[in-house]
Amino acid sequence: NRRIVLASRPNGAPVKENWKLEEVPKPQPKQGEVLLRTIYISLDPYLRGRMTEGPSYVECINIGEVFGGKIAESVYVVEQSNNPNFKVGELVEGSFGWQDYAISDGKDLIKLDGPELNDPVKAIGALGMPGFTAYYGFNEIGQPKKGETVVVAAATGAVGSLVGQFAKAKGCYVVGIAGGDEKCKYAVEKLGFDKCLDHKKGDLKQLLKDACPKGIDIYYENVGGKVFEAVFPLLNVMSRVPLCGLISLYNATSLQNGEINLPGFQITLLKKRIRYEGFIIFDHWSGYDKFKKETRDLVKKGSFVFKEDIVKGLENAPSALMGLLEGKNFGKLVIQVGDI
Ligand code: NDP
Repeated sequence: NRRIVLASRPNGAPVKENWKLEEVPKPQPKQGEVLLRTIYISLDPYLRGRMTEGPSYVECINIGEVFGGKIAESVYVVEQSNNPNFKVGELVEGSFGWQDYAISDGKDLIKLDGPELNDPVKAIGALGMPGFTAYYGFNEIGQPKKGETVVVAAATGAVGSLVGQFAKAKGCYVVGIAGGDEKCKYAVEKLGFDKCLDHKKGDLKQLLKDACPKGIDIYYENVGGKVFEAVFPLLNVMSRVPLCGLISLYNATSLQNGEINLPGFQITLLKKRIRYEGFIIFDHWSGYDKFKKETRDLVKKGSFVFKEDIVKGLENAPSALMGLLEGKNFGKLVIQVGDI
């Protein structure tokens, strides 16, 4: 039984020495418990935050503790069962970190059913935490209306790719921002965005101005930094900014002011009556089942395109997470630990 623990805390971008792979005996389930074998683990940007000490919306991981996520993180197969509610071979969703095996009393498990049974990786992607994040932030904070201009950053990723497709389904004009030609081409040709701009090439401010002649009504923020600086002057009166993530800042050791200063930012929010609202999906978890039921049929019908970037091998989780923070993933990043 292998597991990956946090070995040290990063200063800036994480390095592979921040984690350690350990071999420990395979755990044995007691009465009322099940033994779970890990199939898929979701890798998400907020895991970077769990490496650093300090107050946050999710507690940091202690040195020596098994590394991993907090909620709806992994898909497991029940390998042994001493609990009448679970049968051997059943697929479940839970969060026990980066390891081959885990023990559960069943209370913290969700059984997979519906379309997830045919494509279990969707349970931690389009129909999991990232899908729910896209759905909640875009609809509840974005309050989209037909014909509005929507800009979404990290446009081909787990959250961004769905935001753009939800926006197209609402009849919005959608401009994505992504890193590189291949991702931009994919956003337009496969995801159906109207345009997608490469933040690594050219003058993003000018490109965005040209792409959004009517200004921006909703900016779904996943990135921050230079991308937000390009977006900010184009925000319309009464525009909405669901502040979902700021991935360009997660490895920063000091935060420097860019072109937007705080008084200038505040006065613009006021004058333009902009709704700029941070949210963390864990606070809204009671709506997760409703989201799943509503979105399932659409996923089953193939109404949404959702791409996974599956990396095989538990031992590759640290390098894959480091890559995610640099934009090396193309689609929802998942570690495949075993076969069903
Ligand atoms: P993605 O699958 O979108 O992967 C992250 C992407 O971010 C990269 O592929 C890269 O895309 C982009 N990126 C990385 N570094 C930079 C940078 N310096 N500048 C610009 N872009 C960068 O991840 P997710 O869909 O899982 O997450 C997207 C965002 O949503 C993150 O900020 C995350 O923290 C946030 N989030 C927030 C939640 C909440 O509850 N508020 C819940 C879930 C996610 P590219 O190559 O195109 O630049």
